[in-house]
Amino acid sequence: MPQKTTVVWFRQDLRLADNPALIDAVQHGYVVAVYIYAPTDEGSWSQGGASRVWLHFSLAALDSELKKLGGSLILRKGNTVDELLQVAKSVHAERVVWNRRYEPAARTVEDEVEQALKELEFETCSYNAALLAEPGQTMGREGKPIRVFTSFYRTFTQQNQPDEPLNRPDRIPAPRRLPQSVAVDDLRLLPKIDWDTGIRKSWEPGEKGALKRLDEFLDSRLYDYKDGRNIPSEEGVSKLSPHLHFGEISPRTVWQRVKTIGNQAHNPSDKESVATYLKEIGWREFAHHLLFHYPTTPTKPLYESFSDFPHLQNAKALKLWQRGQTGYPIVDAGMRQLWTTGWMHNRIRMVVGSFLVKDLLLPWQAGAKWFWDTLVDADLANNTLGWQWVAGCGADAAPYFRIFNPVLQSEKFDPQGAYIREWVPELKLLPSKLIHAPWLAKQEDLLEAGVELGKTYPKPIVDHQFARQRALDALKETQKKRRLNSNSF
Ligand code: FAD
Repeated sequence: MPQKTTVVWFRQDLRLADNPALIDAVQHGYVVAVYIYAPTDEGSWSQGGASRVWLHFSLAALDSELKKLGGSLILRKGNTVDELLQVAKSVHAERVVWNRRYEPAARTVEDEVEQALKELEFETCSYNAALLAEPGQTMGREGKPIRVFTSFYRTFTQQNQPDEPLNRPDRIPAPRRLPQSVAVDDLRLLPKIDWDTGIRKSWEPGEKGALKRLDEFLDSRLYDYKDGRNIPSEEGVSKLSPHLHFGEISPRTVWQRVKTIGNQAHNPSDKESVATYLKEIGWREFAHHLLFHYPTTPTKPLYESFSDFPHLQNAKALKLWQRGQTGYPIVDAGMRQLWTTGWMHNRIRMVVGSFLVKDLLLPWQAGAKWFWDTLVDADLANNTLGWQWVAGCGADAAPYFRIFNPVLQSEKFDPQGAYIREWVPELKLLPSKLIHAPWLAKQEDLLEAGVELGKTYPKPIVDHQFARQRALDALKETQKKRRLNSNSF
């Protein structure tokens, strides 16, 4: 076969293993690997601060892996179509290939790229490498998108057998002359003020770090996942979310490796843990399925009746929530874990989300934006699903009237206060039974633990019982309005 030159447009697939676009290019001849940093092409969802830090190190890792096999990563910054065409022309490429993304803005860019390349008679080809199945395919009986997870997952697993992951290429043949590249530092992804130390210490971005995390999880935690995943002070979950988001590991690889272990399990509780974990990967598919069918949901509730929900505007309360200064220890612990490491435990994401939306009555979109900026795994599909779930306005969401009590959640999932002690050290000397609600402690107990409410640690910014009633009243008001509107025309 004649040797062709193929440009591989890397996107959220920053890996060598199970990368169909890369394998396609290798099979055709010479490979030019390109990543274009194009924040303006992402609409209002360009990468937030924590994601940019991750991206910096992930691109450096990908370049280093490509170099080991004879290739390298060409980095560009600017408009995707312009940069990609420029690169393809400069190396006299015959072909341009990529793995698809499914966010609304990314799909628009992809269409523009495809059209521009076809007009210039480049061959193009794209693949699904981000999901177990193409989103948009799993439909309900009447041909409508399924909105309930259990039904989605059942149909999804009946209809799809995820393919075996592809191997890493052995070699990346590069053409003699490569196009110009900027240095990763020139993308200016790292912050000027070094608030990212905690993120750097907590993670190893890149394919190697992803595989290490998967191996560790499978070796020591998978069989305990069913119960372990609810305890935020323990390493009970896989922490693969940023690696999956940036495509440093493929969902097919995760799925097949977990399934293989599941097939070897004898103990019913081990089998249950395996099934529970696979279901979480299913939630990721569900989130992408929903975003694909309902592209306005990152900012608008899926259920329109929530559009005029009487949220408050309270910049001060929002700031206290963001900084982990609400006076509710479990909420503050979560918000501080997020700020320091760029990640928060799922159970606590639900607790802090509920607190923002129901106790503070602030719009879920404000929470989603903060998460977007501070999470290393910020992902438009998963974040949108998570926030609409918390706010009760999305598919298969927690009903709005079910309001988490932050103290009970704390007592149940952090009974010894280990998680709180780690992230809210000013409370660490409080006995376990007092740490969940320090405002209920006697003055002498507080004094003995070195806690002065209002000084060393805040008093609660809102009373939960009052806030709960206020949220329920707001819901009633919305429902009443909706009924009135539907009776009038
Ligand atoms: P594990 O428990 O080890 O699960 C394995 C993988 O399954 C995860 O890496 C993730 O890819 C997927 N997964 C697990 N739970 C969910 C879920 N509920 N929805 C979709 N996929 C899931 N997840 C993100 O990846 N990015 C986000 O921006 C994000 N924002 C969220 C916002 C809110 C308000 C809530 C409640 C949840 C959000 N989640 C988000 C989902 C979930 O919290 C994280 O995926 C999970 O905590 C990541 O940790 P892990 O990799 O250890 O998960």
